Amino acid sequence: MPAAASAHGDGTLIVGASQAGVQAAATLREHGYTSPIVLVGDEPYAPYQRPPLSKGYLAGTASRSTLELRAESYYASAGITVVTGERIVEVRLHDAEAGSGAAVGEGGTPHAFDRLILATGARPHRLPVPGADLDGVCYLRGIDDADTLTRRLQGASHVTVVGGGFIGLEVASLARTAGLSVDVVEAAERVLPRAVASLTSDFYRGAHERRGTRVHLGAAVDRIEGTNGRATAVRLTDGRRLPTDLVVVGIGAQPATELADQLGLAVQGGIVVDGASRTSIATVLAAGDCTAMSHPAGEVGLVRLESVQNAVAQGRQAALAILGRPDPVPAVPWFWSDQYDLKLQIAGLQQGHDRVVLRGDPDTERFSVLYFSRDRLIALDAVNSPIDYMTARKALARSLTLDPALAHDPDVPLARLLVPVADTTLAPLA
Ligand SMILES: Cc1cc2nc3c(=O)[nH]c(=O)nc-3n(C[C@H](O)[C@H](O)[C@H](O)COP(=O)(O)OP(=O)(O)OC[C@H]3O[C@@H](n4cnc5c(N)ncnc54)[C@H](O)[C@@H]3O)c2cc1C
Repeated sequence: MPAAASAHGDGTLIVGASQAGVQAAATLREHGYTSPIVLVGDEPYAPYQRPPLSKGYLAGTASRSTLELRAESYYASAGITVVTGERIVEVRLHDAEAGSGAAVGEGGTPHAFDRLILATGARPHRLPVPGADLDGVCYLRGIDDADTLTRRLQGASHVTVVGGGFIGLEVASLARTAGLSVDVVEAAERVLPRAVASLTSDFYRGAHERRGTRVHLGAAVDRIEGTNGRATAVRLTDGRRLPTDLVVVGIGAQPATELADQLGLAVQGGIVVDGASRTSIATVLAAGDCTAMSHPAGEVGLVRLESVQNAVAQGRQAALAILGRPDPVPAVPWFWSDQYDLKLQIAGLQQGHDRVVLRGDPDTERFSVLYFSRDRLIALDAVNSPIDYMTARKALARSLTLDPALAHDPDVPLARLLVPVADTTLAPLA
């Protein structure tokens, strides 16, 4: 049972009522925090999950109610006040050592706090070309975007997706499955350029092409052309013209850091946090898509992870820091993406790898890619291979590895190859 709230001081203010914010609030209550908790979000909805927006919700197989992160009754029973539709526009610290201060909502509502958690997430990058504001140019971040896109897809016959990242490819797969003609335009030389190595991205390009999508790599958008205010074509910088009646832009997101800037927190491609979600003012916490933290392998610099796993882990860390029990144990990052009948599951972070091993045959649409750094397993992409994925997640969590030379044979279960990192001659990560 969650501990009941009672009015001890101003309590904790969490700005951003989504995956990270809800997790922080829930963890506070689960660990006996009895002061007020106020969760303020600027969207007009109870906190919800975003992953289904480019999957089941857009496909029409998941309803609005299944998006909710928690049942509405949960918040009242846990003593968590959820304020929706209110944007916090100003925040100040009265006592940086204690972490207390006050915030102000757009309508002037004051929110005093003993402790503050910024869980403000990220917002889609806008396409910076002429015509990007034409009707029929869509983005996908929230419920309203997904509802608009659902309507637009129903009336469209030709969709151009700008950006070959996860969201773009998931939308492309749903549009193609619905029988629409689909072009994907990606500025890099391969799809999913930041998330996976070329073995996996080459497979995904091929998988989309085999299913009838045209994938344009190394292709930059020059402008969106329109008639009567409506998008009708995407013009590429090499002069090619892709006729279209719907443009879906998925070119990444930028962290929402305005409040962190007001507080003078360190921001480098995200609000900089340590392993316990503490910002450069240690009493102020930040969690989720708005943050950047040191890469777990240490040598790759700061990374900003946009994933449910990271939002949940950092939300929990932020709560534990407030409770005076910081627990900066690095969690194994994981991620998933559903495109057509292909389930991609990623464990670990591949950045910094120096060796890649293919396990299985991509032509069967069932294989894994293992990433090693100095012969130590650091990540795995599994396509329709859930057992490899689960094994790699466990291995990474338990500091187990395997000999890269033995990893390629899919007939030998990965679990049979695992050995403790310390038992090998492999150099441990820095
Ligand atoms: C379409 C889509 C598909 C995805 N699919 C996957 C997936 O398959 N797997 C996966 O792991 N991750 C996926 N993600 C990413 C995942 O949803 C995010 O990593 C996660 O939502 C991050 O949670 P968060 O709480 O940090 O931020 P967000 O979910 O972005 O929430 C931040 C909230 O804060 C609000 N806010 C910002 N500033 C203020 C302010 N000043 N005042 C009040 N409120 C404010 C925002 O409006 C927003 O509601 C997907 C994301 C999208 C958009």
